[in-house]
Amino acid sequence: MPLIINDIYPEKLFREDGKRLDGREKNELRPIKMEVGVISNADGSAYLEWGNNKIYAAVYGPREVHPHHLAKPDRGILRVFYRMATFSVFERKRPAPGRREKEISMIITDCLEPVLFLELYPGTAFEVFIEVMDADGGTRCASTTVAALALADAGVPMRSLVSSVAVGKIDGQLVTDLSGIEDKAGDADLPCAITWFNEELSLLQFDGDMSIEELNESLLNARNALDQIHQLQLTALKSKYTSILEEVEGGED
Ligand code: UDP
Repeated sequence: MPLIINDIYPEKLFREDGKRLDGREKNELRPIKMEVGVISNADGSAYLEWGNNKIYAAVYGPREVHPHHLAKPDRGILRVFYRMATFSVFERKRPAPGRREKEISMIITDCLEPVLFLELYPGTAFEVFIEVMDADGGTRCASTTVAALALADAGVPMRSLVSSVAVGKIDGQLVTDLSGIEDKAGDADLPCAITWFNEELSLLQFDGDMSIEELNESLLNARNALDQIHQLQLTALKSKYTSILEEVEGGED
């Protein structure tokens, strides 16, 4: 049930009991489920449910670049296509990719590029198609997280995974993982992503108002959440191979 109707927001984003409107503590993530190998026609794929967000990512490559003029003679390229389904939001979204989708595709490309060895694949492209089926805030972070998982599932050599989450401030209090309503009615939103091989931020956006102290504390909140998300990504990848192993062992007698 959408909480925002015709852009009328609730006056308060915390309940009487001090919890957020969806029942979470300030630094609690929404429930997250991840699975890899969900699309048979892709080289690698992953599916993510993150609160009400439902997102697929499919990876192809390395393969020939179309149009050819985009190919680089000395390195491969990464192309990311983030799309939101028409039915993924309360108000129908126009089917053609808009400015926001192009911007988010570019942001996700920048987040993922540092972990890939593109210099080893001259003249080719890795393509990541992301389809947001249901959206409820933080889709750029959830998409980055699921895209990294799909690249790993495709067996693309990577320096590490990439994890992403948004932190921010609502009703004057710092929180982790803003939902759609918190993103729209809150005071500040700070999406960030980490590349684990060097523990550097590959994304840091900021929208809103907060002090330097709050910014530092928010980054610590982000770091905690990113650790949890990374563990979930690793578990999802391992569980694919555990089930293959169980299948093989089960068929050995
Ligand atoms: N949203 C929407 N219609 C749109 C774009 C976004 O209803 O055309 C909603 C959607 O739930 C999205 C949220 O607004 O997750 C926040 O959007 P934003 O642009 O801040 O990106 P996100 O937080 O998803 O990365």
